[in-house]
Amino acid sequence: MRIDVLTLFPEMFGGVLTSSILKRASEQTPDPKDPTRHRSPAVSYHLTDIRQYTADKHGNVDQRPFGGGPGMVMQCQPIWDAVGAVEKQDPRVPRRIVMTPQGRRLDQRLVEELAREQRLMIIAGHYEGIDERVVRRLDPIDEISIGDYVLTGGELPAMVLIDAIVRLLPGVLGDEQSACHESFSQQIGGLLDHSHYTRPQVWQGMEVPDVLLSGDHAKIDAWRREQSQHRTAQRRPDLIDGASAQ
Ligand code: SAM
Repeated sequence: MRIDVLTLFPEMFGGVLTSSILKRASEQTPDPKDPTRHRSPAVSYHLTDIRQYTADKHGNVDQRPFGGGPGMVMQCQPIWDAVGAVEKQDPRVPRRIVMTPQGRRLDQRLVEELAREQRLMIIAGHYEGIDERVVRRLDPIDEISIGDYVLTGGELPAMVLIDAIVRLLPGVLGDEQSACHESFSQQIGGLLDHSHYTRPQVWQGMEVPDVLLSGDHAKIDAWRREQSQHRTAQRRPDLIDGASAQ
């Protein structure tokens, strides 16, 4: 997968895309089946500074809003030209995304859908947001929100989206099953994950449930399914209603 990000603050992505799993996903890794061979990276990240595309001789990319009011609005021209230039860098047509608190709320179903794309192009807004006309002209474009709260810019939302997607790409997580059986995933019916335990067997007088020590995998699976349903009913009954409505 190729992921392009168009932003006024590319430096914000440094630590996130160059650490841990997101970093590894963008590197060649030894093939676990044949260590003499390498697997190609699951993803490549391409950061574009929107400011580089402004036609304004002072380097401005934002202006005061028509009609008055506080703050600044990102102008159409730099974004339009940046999108045009970035799209030409690769023959794959990207799925266009703009981060906005007014968009479709991100959930695991949408993440799984986006993880099947070959190329994503994510636009991060800033200040009061982006001139509406360029968003309309970029249609088809997905407007995505990471939740009902407002952040200063679309950079953190873009990083949240990238993290959620990249961990689902084939080969990125060591044990691919670990991405399949997590909260909200379709494989567990959109429910919450079961609870997890590790060593020691007794901690501050609290014991690990016996069934997990039994070695009986059918029983363990049944216990985990039951746990998952119970936790979901207690914590997020809306997920059960949502699953039965589909
Ligand atoms: N005036 C806008 C509104 O009230 O809907 C908010 C603009 S916000 C301060 C600036 C930028 O941050 C937005 O253009 C968007 O890219 C990003 N942003 C802020 N909160 C977000 C959220 N919850 N989800 C996705 N993007 C968000």
